[in-house]
Amino acid sequence: MKIAVIGAGILGASTAYHLALAGHNVVVLDEAHPGKATLAGAGIVCPWATKAADESWYALYAAGARYYDELIAGLASRGEDQVGYRKVGALVVADDAREYDAAAERLARRTAEAPESGGFEEITPDRARELFPPLRAGMKALHVPGGARVDARLLAAAMLRAAVALGADFRSDLATLHLDQGRVVLRDGRNKVIEADQVVVAAGAWASHILAPLGLNHPVMPQRGQIVHLRLPGTDTSRWSVLLPMASHYLLAFDDSRVVVGATREDGSGFDYRVTAAGQHEVLSAGLHYAPGLANATLIETRVGFRPAGPSIKPILGRVEGIDGLIIGNGLGASGLTIGPFAGRLLAKLAAGETPEIDLSPYRPSHPKT
Ligand code: FAD
Repeated sequence: MKIAVIGAGILGASTAYHLALAGHNVVVLDEAHPGKATLAGAGIVCPWATKAADESWYALYAAGARYYDELIAGLASRGEDQVGYRKVGALVVADDAREYDAAAERLARRTAEAPESGGFEEITPDRARELFPPLRAGMKALHVPGGARVDARLLAAAMLRAAVALGADFRSDLATLHLDQGRVVLRDGRNKVIEADQVVVAAGAWASHILAPLGLNHPVMPQRGQIVHLRLPGTDTSRWSVLLPMASHYLLAFDDSRVVVGATREDGSGFDYRVTAAGQHEVLSAGLHYAPGLANATLIETRVGFRPAGPSIKPILGRVEGIDGLIIGNGLGASGLTIGPFAGRLLAKLAAGETPEIDLSPYRPSHPKT
């Protein structure tokens, strides 16, 4: 079967990888628009403390984290072992005692059902600062050993390379879609038809542009995230835990003395690909509030990404009723690096005519006609 995938962010790259693994003929088109979310994403994989309560969303969020071990092992067996993934552990902290207690209650309930989380325990402020040295003094923490971080740039590139090594055709190009007698037709940037039995649209925040000519009013909008990267020259940050304050900001570290502080959540931003004074101020203020030990770090860059934000927290994954051969994967919002690799596997199964291991009916695309 020939399957086309539009978009090679975390979701499209994973879809293509799983399709190629299963022996399908795959073509991937990606335009790499400025603000591609996967290139800006922080990379936290730690679903168990989330405050969001939607059950079908949480089922995918938790399954996404569980799938990482298998994914990483599979990629490593193909020589792709540089993806920046490490279970460095996560520290859940809170300014407010009630928030902290509520997080402990959620962790107790959810980690009990998720052996890959490694459970959790309360640790002292001194121990917390051993695991994340810039942390404010006096903050006790809930330590989740299975919390992880990943470099999504490396991971998406690794999945795409593995797909290409298995025979997938990758093109840096802008795809368009049209309808012909109820069936989707794909064209490349020169308007040449690309034959495909199935088309998977994993086009992130830009998906409404490509779906509009099909008469679909796709409800995913860009939500801008500005995220700051700092460097602590000469400091080994490679094993620092992820810091998850029960608020909208967070900190994490990577191998190259890099500490990342995220992020703004700017609804209504459109595709305004800029670092703003207010965005920079918001993120740095929150970062230094929790981690004053970063005050002297070097500010090396601020990345900007457009999260694909749907009408609810739930992703959109499935076939479009009434249009032959069209599948959509989108709306991964703020949790796409956790959900994306697993969701890509589900989309690959759907495109190949198999039954995905999770019932996708809660995520079915629904589109009012334009
Ligand atoms: P994208 O990565 O945006 O990829 C879509 C691709 O489709 C783009 O390359 C685009 O150019 C291409 N495309 C669109 N239209 C066309 C077309 N017509 N033809 C060809 N190509 C096209 N998630 C977590 O789980 N943990 C985190 O810590 C985390 N932190 C984040 C921090 C920030 C600041 C941001 C912005 C996001 C974060 N996320 C996180 C969320 C995550 O990054 C996104 O949900 C995820 O990357 C979305 O992936 P995607 O593949 O759907 O879209």
